[in-house]
Amino acid sequence: MPGFEFFGALERAEVQDVLDSGVLMRYGFDGMRQGHWKAKELEQALAKRMQTSFAHTVSSGTAALTVAMASAGIGAGDEVILPTFTFVASFEAVLSLGAIPVLVDIDDTLTLAPEAVEKAITKRTRAVMPVHMCGSMADLKALKAICTKHQLILIEDACQAIGGSYDGKPLGSYGDIGCFSFDFVKTITCGEGGGIITNNKDFYTHADHYSDHGHDHVGTDRGAEKHPFLGYNYRISELHAAVGLAQVKRLDDFLAIQKRHYHILEASLKKLEGITLRRVPDGGVQNYSFLNFFLPTETLARKAQKELVGAGVDACFYWFDNNWHYHTKWDHLKELHSLGPVSEEIKKRVLNEETQNFTASDHWMGRTVSCLIKLSWSEEEVAHRATTLHRVLDTILTEA
Ligand SMILES: *Cc1c(COP(=O)(O)O)cnc(C)c1O
Repeated sequence: MPGFEFFGALERAEVQDVLDSGVLMRYGFDGMRQGHWKAKELEQALAKRMQTSFAHTVSSGTAALTVAMASAGIGAGDEVILPTFTFVASFEAVLSLGAIPVLVDIDDTLTLAPEAVEKAITKRTRAVMPVHMCGSMADLKALKAICTKHQLILIEDACQAIGGSYDGKPLGSYGDIGCFSFDFVKTITCGEGGGIITNNKDFYTHADHYSDHGHDHVGTDRGAEKHPFLGYNYRISELHAAVGLAQVKRLDDFLAIQKRHYHILEASLKKLEGITLRRVPDGGVQNYSFLNFFLPTETLARKAQKELVGAGVDACFYWFDNNWHYHTKWDHLKELHSLGPVSEEIKKRVLNEETQNFTASDHWMGRTVSCLIKLSWSEEEVAHRATTLHRVLDTILTEA
């Protein structure tokens, strides 16, 4: 997945433009900037690649999620449905708006289970946020039908699946609003950065203003601009945007490499009785940033991950035990370890034990192993990994 593996001349040239003009900020300073508008160009390139009318960039993926929800009018006391398998950023963004994160089970797609989503809907629910974890997507068709039926907003967290598609549409563009992260370990990186895509002009305008203290961006005098509503500062800097601009142009090259490496590794699994691949919904195309598969039991999955790493197949993950990606380790959320006071409505919903049973998620997650696909492997390295992957898993399954 990581674009940082390929940081080179293109990135340096874009950054150099910014350093030469000295305008490190994305707004204003029109005379000084010598025609360089890196954040704007990055947004144009992103909108074009993702086939959406609008794109807006911000300071991180977490900021993208926050700004996306704020732009759709989500605020205090609104419930947002999220999967049990995601990155902590998902619920952080919800909480930062005073809204209520509602965790919901995943299925064998490793993303939101549509039936579980429907069950979790209350009269306070405002949005459903599928998270396309580890390169593949949620059943967006089913989720969209639920959202349409209940008049909810569909927000796609495509931070880990940029470049994948569903039903012919780039991930992030299928719902009402989509979010990307360009942090240092994502498929394309800015160092720190995030992006929002949408076809909804109001959401876009809101995002544009909200992420810059409410500035309406009318005219060329920032000091004289108006503030039609409250905002915050989630701006991306020109330096970061410059790196992102170079990387977004390389996205399809990165995806082609990931896909080639993925298929070589995947082929080595297909001959193994007992290994099942994560389900990709019909009409979905992964971005191939991870190879995700199920072992027959939790014990075997734990063992497989350990032995794969031991045998040199590094960057294989057992998310079930991971502090940052799975609900079992989120005591700080479940018990609301907050530095400051938390609203009564958040307490009431989040501290409710009845809503904390996720055996359906545990069934899948406990058996999942995910191996990161790197860009920089040589052909020999990929072939060697495929052989080792097959050998280690074959031994474990035969002994079992
Ligand atoms: C990385 C990531 C984010 C947050 O992105 P940052 O840029 O690190 O803030 C959000 N959601 C998912 C699924 C991610 O992987």
